[in-house]
Amino acid sequence: MTYPNVQLLINNEWRAARSGASLPVHNPADGTVIGTVARAATADLDDALAAAAAGFNVWRNTPAVERAKTMRAAAVLLRERTDSIATLLTLEQGKPLAEAKVEIGMAADIIEWFADEGRRVYGRIVSPRAMNQQQMVLKEPVGVVAAFTPWNFPINQVVRKLCGALATGCSMIVKAAEETPASPAELIRAFVDAGLPAGVVGLVYGDPAEISNYLIPHPIIRKITFTGSTPVGKQLAALAGAHMKRVTMELGGHAPVIIAGDANIPHAIKMMAGAKFRNAGQVCISPTRYLVDESVREEFVAGFVKYVNGMKIGSGLEAGVSMGPLANPRRVTAMQQITEDAVKRGAKIATGGERIGTAGNFFAPTIILDAPLDSSVFNNEPFGPMAAVRSVKNLDEAITEANRLPFGLSAYAFTSSIKNAHQLSSQVQTGMLWINQPAAPWAELPFGGVKDSGYGSEGGPEALEAYLNTKTVAMTSV
Ligand code: NAD
Repeated sequence: MTYPNVQLLINNEWRAARSGASLPVHNPADGTVIGTVARAATADLDDALAAAAAGFNVWRNTPAVERAKTMRAAAVLLRERTDSIATLLTLEQGKPLAEAKVEIGMAADIIEWFADEGRRVYGRIVSPRAMNQQQMVLKEPVGVVAAFTPWNFPINQVVRKLCGALATGCSMIVKAAEETPASPAELIRAFVDAGLPAGVVGLVYGDPAEISNYLIPHPIIRKITFTGSTPVGKQLAALAGAHMKRVTMELGGHAPVIIAGDANIPHAIKMMAGAKFRNAGQVCISPTRYLVDESVREEFVAGFVKYVNGMKIGSGLEAGVSMGPLANPRRVTAMQQITEDAVKRGAKIATGGERIGTAGNFFAPTIILDAPLDSSVFNNEPFGPMAAVRSVKNLDEAITEANRLPFGLSAYAFTSSIKNAHQLSSQVQTGMLWINQPAAPWAELPFGGVKDSGYGSEGGPEALEAYLNTKTVAMTSV
């Protein structure tokens, strides 16, 4: 499969930027340039805004049941095209082909769930205070939405946002990641080919700051949704606040994994080793801070290291590869810096800790033992194939450490006691807590964080609420 020169989508037309400008796209497995992506400027954004405003008028006036049919048809096309889209996704992002296929399957599942849930957006009738009155609460689409999505799950980050918007009758301009542009374009192509009316979705790429600075304050845009790092999220939320725009922010995390003394350790190893290295750890809910009861630490570390030593690292297109390259050279540098800092502060590297080769962005799966709590790895989200393990004396100490950081996106815990599970459920400050299991972020479950990890949800009925305005209508017959 040849990698395309990715275009913008404006008014259901795939086209180059008006200026003809483009940016190169690299293969993270070898650093080569594999294609280009159109670079939008203000003139293109104006076209996209006008199209989205017109698209909103069409889509908000389309019955939910018809919207659902188009969405479901897109899911069918996406499933049919899985193999070719997965290849593009692996080429531009690096993850193993099998993971790329799972991402596409999940995306189709998300589309179907949102399509159906959109048919269940209800208002309510509120009992009046006089019998000649009626009081209604109406739910209306918020309007044209601007979405900013990152490169780690180029399809899934778009699909969660797009489906919330489409299911509720909003239109959306997506600014997808320039580093991984082809697979989100193919996702959106499935909606266009399924019959989505012109302007309901637009797709642009370019300079992220230039685009967000133009779109967020623009009067046509009524809502902003962003997934990415906490510093950028705070910047965009501040800009949105200055213009009184609604926001959903899905930001960084630094997920604690609490292993209690009574946990089933082989099970915990199986669940948390695999989860750590999925997508080379470039996952906002990736397990990162392993807080292991001192009584089971030795067994846990031995099993974790054994798992890592059995992994096969290579190009995501090679058969049997369990972890591909990092998506960009910035992440390799970050892994090196975090490792150096930990070693300098007295930590031990149980395995990994080094770049692999010189071509491509490969970094060995890494387990760091006993880094102090003031080290970088225990404070900055690694966002890479790196796990930090520390012993704790008891559950209270683990929970205190889990809650120490400003993040609160995902947390994991392993225990066989209901008492512990209960304490964890009530005391861990997080948006999502997974007990005795890896994350299972199904479309029907709320997905989002607390504290510096952002606010709003991208799953469950809450994800539709995020795209709805509430209108009170009270009437008196006279
Ligand atoms: P970054 O902070 O430069 O960018 C993160 C994302 O935000 C990218 O997709 C980028 O295109 C976008 N972005 C940056 N500045 C923007 C702006 N002014 N307006 C609009 N969008 C903007 O970091 P990076 O090097 O690309 O990624 C590294 C960090 O980002 C990670 O450490 C992680 O914390 C975070 N990240 C989080 C997720 C997630 O799923 N929550 C995904 C990718 C990256």
